[in-house]
Amino acid sequence: MTHKLEQEVAIQAVIGSSKFFDYLKNNNVKIQKIIKQDNSPVTIADYGSQIIIMNEILSSFPHDIINSEENLSLLKHKQSEIDKFTLFDIIRKINPNITIKQLDRVINNEGSKATRKKRFWVLDPLDGTKGFLRGNQYQYAISLSLIENGFVKLGVLCCPNLFFKISKQKKYHGCIFIANRGKGTYIFTLDKYVVQKAHVNTISNPENAIFCESYEKSHTSHENHNKIAALLGIKASPIRMDSQCKYALVSRGDISIYFRLPKKLNSFEKIWDHAAGAIIIEESGGKVTDALGRQLNFTAGNKLTNNYGVIATNGYLHNKVVEATREILKSSPH
Ligand code: AMP
Ligand code: MG
Repeated sequence: MTHKLEQEVAIQAVIGSSKFFDYLKNNNVKIQKIIKQDNSPVTIADYGSQIIIMNEILSSFPHDIINSEENLSLLKHKQSEIDKFTLFDIIRKINPNITIKQLDRVINNEGSKATRKKRFWVLDPLDGTKGFLRGNQYQYAISLSLIENGFVKLGVLCCPNLFFKISKQKKYHGCIFIANRGKGTYIFTLDKYVVQKAHVNTISNPENAIFCESYEKSHTSHENHNKIAALLGIKASPIRMDSQCKYALVSRGDISIYFRLPKKLNSFEKIWDHAAGAIIIEESGGKVTDALGRQLNFTAGNKLTNNYGVIATNGYLHNKVVEATREILKSSPH
């Protein structure tokens, strides 16, 4: 089954939130933030992006479930540090057609957070918030995907700061990666005028591979990644980067491996950090599994509790990388 309307809606949605981020930057809007229970930050940027995207989806698919990272109910409290009225104001400046009633409908939407349904959307409205707040806003992503019957069917990953390269001389600012199950991955410029098909690279000798990992060392075990890389004979230093843009780089062949091994045995990845990235890699010819080579299971809840870490590769290297990972995990599981 094709998902033509879903794809159009998803693209419009992520473009809307990328315009919102531009507005924040160009107008030096103060990024109000709250520290969540898990000690990670959430900001006016995360909330605004989530509201814009949810509004777009609910306008076309009013009964759909959207399983997104942030909890909007917080905005209903008058004493919240993040001011709903400032947020609504900015959203309506960018898109005056959106009414307050629509925005309130999104905030009051209680249908989210269900992952055992036949069909649901998965959304990370601002992946890489820590980098966004570090100020350099170097790489961050908007990640939206559709899961049906346990499988990711559509993935849209918007990387507003990642260059779209036509040639060495010509490049555009910003890319949107779009993958439909069985139909490949395509990369669009943010204005949608230029499009390229994405292909992983064909490197099969690990000595020639480059790998990437999180910039934040608290998110993942850089130590184990280094040990695996050494065992594989990888020569190049790792690329450290925030957000799911790492998936984008493997998908278009810039690099060959994305490692995400957990620091602790009982820490699990969140589905919105991987669903879109996984289909984007698979549809460009690569492979994504957990650290032990098992398929990612997106139906266990908000976390990938049936999996341990994530490894994404160009496919050619996958078995070798998983073998080396198993070897290293025998002696240092985390
Ligand atoms: P990355 O920039 O690739 O490290 O991914 C950012 C994502 O890491 C965030 O969206 C969070 O879901 C996730 N994250 C935040 N804190 C942690 C943590 N302590 N351990 C693992 N992942 C985390
Ligand atoms: Mg995230």
